[in-house]
Amino acid sequence: MAYTITLIPGDGIGPEVTAASVRVLSATGIDFHWEMQAAGAATMASEGTALPERVLASIRRNRVALKGPTATPVGGGHRSVNVALRKELDLYANLRPVRSHAGIKSRYEGVDLVVIRENTEDLYSGIEHVVVPGVVESLKIITRKASTRIARFAFEYASRNGRRKITAVHKANIMKLSDGLFLDCCREIATQYPGVSYDEIIVDNACMQLVLDPTQFDTLLLENLYGDIVSDLCAGLVGGLGLAPSGNIGETGALFEAVHGTAPDIAGKNRANPLALLLSSAMMLDHLGETQAAAWLRSAIHDTTREGRPLTPDLGGSASTSEVADAIAARVEAQRGR
Ligand code: ATP
Repeated sequence: MAYTITLIPGDGIGPEVTAASVRVLSATGIDFHWEMQAAGAATMASEGTALPERVLASIRRNRVALKGPTATPVGGGHRSVNVALRKELDLYANLRPVRSHAGIKSRYEGVDLVVIRENTEDLYSGIEHVVVPGVVESLKIITRKASTRIARFAFEYASRNGRRKITAVHKANIMKLSDGLFLDCCREIATQYPGVSYDEIIVDNACMQLVLDPTQFDTLLLENLYGDIVSDLCAGLVGGLGLAPSGNIGETGALFEAVHGTAPDIAGKNRANPLALLLSSAMMLDHLGETQAAAWLRSAIHDTTREGRPLTPDLGGSASTSEVADAIAARVEAQRGR
């Protein structure tokens, strides 16, 4: 089977980590044709927009994209490429598996969580205005349609991937209408999936419980803003951003990327850790139905972290990005040849 995939190298360390993924994915023996599409701050400078229409057209055509991080200025400047991509392509589900990695130091062991975040509405609607000077209003939009859609995605994902329990995270004690509607939708969908258990937790308590004992949770289902914050908290439970993959999934397309940013401090130095985007690449392989190749890649990453080499400096090693990529590619090839 051959696949044409849109590849967005992005800014900062993006070109280095995407090159590492392309290198490793070629070791699976699957025939990938990469359609390279520049986007981000450098594209803003050269084309006047950070997300040209050609990028969206490419993803609409290919239905799958692999993306490096893109820079977004804080405050003014251009709209976040990530937010725009999710909106334009209606990538409504953000999927972030959070697992402990052998050999990687962290405070917890045996963490195996999935965070599912609604990606299109909530306070990210971007509807803000000045009421009178000194007073601004930012609107939180929650709809039955989007809440039902993400709840169905979560329960489908759970039942297809052997997850036991979904916990909806909310603040409905304060936001009775908006978070109340979200919970109504989750409860309604939960009744259709008797094989997956369902419960609810208030977001502040969820944060405390996650820090106390993350293994008490299985799959978390959240609105957009809580999902943003809680998913980063969860990444921190298992060793930080260097190992946090994600997928943004819609009805007609899917985009896989690492959670980390452009890391300008180490860009161009061949020091960036490629593992987060490699784990995202494994998610992409699963999405394509290439589950065997996904398993090879995950086990190659697992063996590398367990042995503790080669690893990049952020994980305590001294290897370069390309050395890590070469070693993981060799491991994938070895498994393929078995
Ligand atoms: P951005 O503005 O794009 O979010 P940032 O530097 O503010 O960039 P991150 O890119 O997420 O935020 O980086 C936070 C810290 O983590 C930086 O010190 C960076 O060097 C480090 N870091 C992030 N990703 C990686 C990676 N893949 N490998 C090594 N270090 C990383």
